[in-house]
Amino acid sequence: MIDQFGRKIEYLRISVTDKCNLRCVYCMPLDGLNWLKRESILTFEEITQIVGTMVPMGLRKVRFTGGEPLVRKDLPDLVKMIAEFPEIEDISLSTNAVLLAEQGPRLRDAGINRVNISLDSLQADRVDAISRRPGSFERIMQGLEVAQELGFEPIKINVVVIAGENDDEIEDFALITKDKPWSVRFIELMPTGSNLDLSARNFVSCQEVLTRLRAISDLHPVRGPVGNGPATYYSFPGAEGTVGVITPLSHNFCDKCNRMRLTADGELRPCLFGDIQTNLRDALRAGRDLVPIVEETLEIKPERHHLIQGSMEGSGGLVALSQTGG
Ligand code: SAM
Ligand code: SF4
Repeated sequence: MIDQFGRKIEYLRISVTDKCNLRCVYCMPLDGLNWLKRESILTFEEITQIVGTMVPMGLRKVRFTGGEPLVRKDLPDLVKMIAEFPEIEDISLSTNAVLLAEQGPRLRDAGINRVNISLDSLQADRVDAISRRPGSFERIMQGLEVAQELGFEPIKINVVVIAGENDDEIEDFALITKDKPWSVRFIELMPTGSNLDLSARNFVSCQEVLTRLRAISDLHPVRGPVGNGPATYYSFPGAEGTVGVITPLSHNFCDKCNRMRLTADGELRPCLFGDIQTNLRDALRAGRDLVPIVEETLEIKPERHHLIQGSMEGSGGLVALSQTGG
């Protein structure tokens, strides 16, 4: 799958649910969202059929995301179904890790190779405040421990940097990589409908993050771990792990984009932001061939996103990233 700008698309992020067991301040409103109806959500068989359509077209990597993918308790069944495609080289997971201690072993057995874990602070009270679910820190730490025991590799930690909430922990997070073979990635806060004030007021650019990190030690550009997408990676001399920055606002990374997204209700989205999407679910349920629809979606994949700080305009009316999988 090559788009009109010559980008090779071989990666699909599959959102298996719009629901979540956390309410991160930058993502989901405290009262939740208008959840999708059960019948509008793709079944595992339907997701597998869509992947089966895209594999001969060049799909090679799949990531499960959400909402929180582990709230769909039988996710290992889907992972197994996708792992049966020999062409799929990499199956990964983005999770808040709250349920990972329980579900990690089955997911590993089913075929998940590696995990990205969201963790916005190393302090229990802050994680509980940012996620607006008391007790989450402890469970996330248990999930992280189980992820290490199970040998998921590389473990990537995603930190959304929020001024006044966790930006004083940038150095602490980065220093973890001296001893752990993890990749700690700092993400710029992106504007969506539910966080316009926060994302405008509490924005910290990754340039600032890098300046702070260079003040503690030399930082060398490195190639980065398996599956590097939009992040740019660095490492401290002699460090086991790497530090990454993801800069959707300060530096647009769209020229390297290699992905499309499938929402829980079957919309194929060629870009995280904007309002371009095509509906695969209804076509699939009507027995239509999906190949021309995927080709058409590839053709209209935009050159770049047009996010504007403090505005919903560029995000195409998206209320929360949980609606598209992030
Ligand atoms: N629930 C899972 C998790 O949190 O990892 C997967 C879905 S979540 C939408 C995927 C990623 O998007 C997470 O790393 C999260 O921190 C990030 N994210 C959500 N809203 C964001 C925002 N407004 N700006 C930047 N990153 C955001
Ligand atoms: Fe849930 Fe992930 Fe959004 Fe947090 S970032 S509310 S864990 S979907």
